Amino acid sequence: MEGCLFCGIVAGDVPSTAVLDTETCYAFRDINPAAPVHVLVIPKEHIDSLEAVGSSQAVLLGDLIDAIRAVAAKEDVAESGYRVVTNIGEDAGQLVKHLHFHVMGGRSLRWPPKGSEAGG
Ligand code: AMP
Ligand code: ZN
Repeated sequence: MEGCLFCGIVAGDVPSTAVLDTETCYAFRDINPAAPVHVLVIPKEHIDSLEAVGSSQAVLLGDLIDAIRAVAAKEDVAESGYRVVTNIGEDAGQLVKHLHFHVMGGRSLRWPPKGSEAGG
């Protein structure tokens, strides 16, 4: 999609550090890592967010899950543990409107995210 940063990365117009490249998915290092391992896994085709995808794209969703697990294995966090996050929309802080899964690990991660349900 024109003007989409991650479509630009898939096209090679925007530089990225590849971790995994499959027929349907691409994984690359987050430019502003929040953990020793912080990789973004995306579909090569443009999809706005998880809100815009469903069972009709079951094969692609399976490919993304396989890619996430392959990244975890490659980055050596499959056994130590890792977190998979996808932000959807404004309240979640989705900055890039191209579906992406953050794969984070390599240190102990706190849960839940900061703030309270009451709005803290
Ligand atoms: P989100 O808030 O879930 O939309 O996250 C977007 C993520 O993309 C952030 O963690 C950014 O650090 C990351 N990001 C933004 N631009 C780039 C880029 N050019 N290469 C790699 N990661 C990026
Ligand atoms: Zn895109």
